[in-house]
Amino acid sequence: MDGSVTSDVLRQHLIDPEICIRCNTCEEMCPEDAITHDDLNYVIDFDKCTMKGDCLPPCPTGAIDSFRKATRPWTIEEQFGWDSLPPDAEPVVESKGPLPEDVVAITENATSGAGGQTLPPWSAAHPYINLYTPEQPAVATVMGNMRLTDESASTGIHHLVLDFGNNAFPYLEGQSIGVLPPGEDENGRPHHVRLYSISSPREGERPGYNNCAITVKRITEDNDGNPVEGVASTFLCGLEKGDEVNVTGPFGTAFLMPNHAGANLLMICTGTGAAPMRAMTERRRRKWARGAREAGGSMTLFFGARTAGELPYFGPLKKLPQEFMDVQMAFSREPGAEKEYVQDRIRAQGKQLAGLLRDENTFMYICGHRRMEDGVEASLTDICAYHDMDWPQIRDRMRLAGRYHVETYY
Ligand SMILES: Cc1cc2nc3c(=O)[nH]c(=O)nc-3n(C[C@H](O)[C@H](O)[C@H](O)COP(=O)(O)OP(=O)(O)OC[C@H]3O[C@@H](n4cnc5c(N)ncnc54)[C@H](O)[C@@H]3O)c2cc1C
Repeated sequence: MDGSVTSDVLRQHLIDPEICIRCNTCEEMCPEDAITHDDLNYVIDFDKCTMKGDCLPPCPTGAIDSFRKATRPWTIEEQFGWDSLPPDAEPVVESKGPLPEDVVAITENATSGAGGQTLPPWSAAHPYINLYTPEQPAVATVMGNMRLTDESASTGIHHLVLDFGNNAFPYLEGQSIGVLPPGEDENGRPHHVRLYSISSPREGERPGYNNCAITVKRITEDNDGNPVEGVASTFLCGLEKGDEVNVTGPFGTAFLMPNHAGANLLMICTGTGAAPMRAMTERRRRKWARGAREAGGSMTLFFGARTAGELPYFGPLKKLPQEFMDVQMAFSREPGAEKEYVQDRIRAQGKQLAGLLRDENTFMYICGHRRMEDGVEASLTDICAYHDMDWPQIRDRMRLAGRYHVETYY
């Protein structure tokens, strides 16, 4: 059996019998001879399919772009009998009951842009969610609170390390925690939860410790430039060592990193969108430091900020060797330099990007301010057009295969 199994649910590549025109192209293209047919249906043998994807581009209808979650593989005999595809099996995600409504609404909003709801990478580890609730939060202790951006920078971004003490808080790179700010809103109700992406790899900010870091931008003005004090971000950035924070979560079941060898990570972020990228990068960096260089495919990071001083984790990023990760930084307000936005940097690396997008083993992550999405979409559309590719088609195929992930927020 190929490795397309997470701990409880597997992802299986199938062919949609309702739209397949039985043209035989996929069967001819499959290097593993995993595709076969009878008088009725074209089907895929789970034991032979390696999900390399050679069969995907030539399919004229998109019937081949079909993936289902299942608790055991559908056999080819079962597939021969289908008129339509079965529904996804419910993913087994460890959760203490249903997600709070505000978390569902916030998450839907964060994925409502170009990303849309998506699946996790097929080889992602099994996430735990919603272990701590507003009624029973985990009380985390602040172990450190460091300003990452220059004092002169217009935005103060902080790196906070939270320790969960004796409360088990298992998480994966790409997941978020909920922070419950103390006090009440103008209606006398407790403040609603705010989500923050975890910026540590799964084994802890300090390996083996029950802690995690978050990357918080202090909100000092609203989106129209009017001065405001963000409730949660002001609270978090003002915390001192030893202070306590009520935390819910973890949350997130899709924006997760692939675990299989050879998976390329293509990461695009601005500002605090760096948090999940740092978590994923650190996961790979620690493996790399232990000599497991073959464990991952390539890593490419496009990172935009106004100036170098406003780019969180700038120092550590600059020290990473090129053979470990290709870091492409874009600064839009660096004194004496030409304005460059993240989408400009992406365009400048068009050939490299096109190669990555053609590779079925590329997993893409976009995170940061909602405003970044349009520019990134436009640059990817242009690059693909220049290289005879169709970005919306590629994006949809990647999303279906759990390879395209966007989380943006205001
Ligand atoms: C999935 C997810 C992950 C997130 N990860 C992070 C993270 O890693 N780091 C991080 O700092 N934030 C992150 N956020 C945003 C975070 O949840 C809060 O929304 C943010 O910190 C503002 O909360 P606040 O209570 O300080 O501001 P509020 O009191 O809620 O808002 C005050 C005012 O500021 C405006 N505002 C809110 N957010 C912003 C913003 N980002 N930029 C400009 N104006 C804003 C509001 O419209 C409002 O007018 C994430 C959001 C989501 C959905």
